[in-house]
Amino acid sequence: MTRVLLLGGTGDALAIARGLSAAHVYSLAGLGRVPVDLACSVRVGGFGGIDGLVGYLRAEAITLVVDATHPYAAQMSRHAHAACAIARVPLWAVRRPAWQPQPGDDWREAADWREIVERIATFQRPLFTLGREPLAHLDDIPSSQYWTVRCLDAHPGNERARIVDARGPFDLAGERVLFDDARIDVVISKNSGGRATEAKLAVARERRLPVVMLARPALPDVERSFVDAASALDALRHCLET
Ligand code: NAP
Repeated sequence: MTRVLLLGGTGDALAIARGLSAAHVYSLAGLGRVPVDLACSVRVGGFGGIDGLVGYLRAEAITLVVDATHPYAAQMSRHAHAACAIARVPLWAVRRPAWQPQPGDDWREAADWREIVERIATFQRPLFTLGREPLAHLDDIPSSQYWTVRCLDAHPGNERARIVDARGPFDLAGERVLFDDARIDVVISKNSGGRATEAKLAVARERRLPVVMLARPALPDVERSFVDAASALDALRHCLET
């Protein structure tokens, strides 16, 4: 019998988890909401590195791992790749395609935080949509800048930064209000792909604002790769029926 371990933390993963029966396990890091209405079992928290994951795969008799973590959750993806190789468990992944620039876009790639700081040096009102990373730099904000940082954290901010604790999806109307209220002049983003958080890019385009895009991390090869939850679920259903 196939027993699936689904590595989650994304909307795609949750959509797949909704299609899994009680025989399978949905795993979350524990940073966000934990669903309570799934048929499959849900476990929360890290495995304890590669060795911990190998031990888990063996103890739970997992026969297939599906990595549906966020494209920037590269450590978990690397650990899954290494652990599956050791435990001889096949690894599939949902690899959400990156957003592509459209006519009118002004995207500037940055490899890391240092490059982000360089790229925004001449701007005054950046909007950060990178998750929590900017919170570690709130004491370094130049006097010429006021930051708006959107992330899942009820951080109080400071005199040079407002933290917007909000969870997607975000729509065009709401993004326009945020850009107006915060007088945004540059956006800093991960290239997450998908629909839930792409409206900010459309607003940047219509206002001709630059977007500093943090480069995607390299992810390990997997046995089968899917571009969305629906195609992964199709393949899973086929595999679970046979
Ligand atoms: P990460 O750097 O790749 O992983 C850090 C550690 O968190 C992993 O080594 C693992 O701990 C644990 N972990 C991550 N995902 C897990 C899962 N699904 N189940 C059990 N343990 C997990 O990941 P991250 O960037 O901190 O992201 C954490 C979670 O948030 C991920 O599940 C990801 O899908 C989700 N998320 C991330 C982003 C993002 O921008 N990075 C955005 C949206 C959602 P051990 O080594 O102890 O096993």
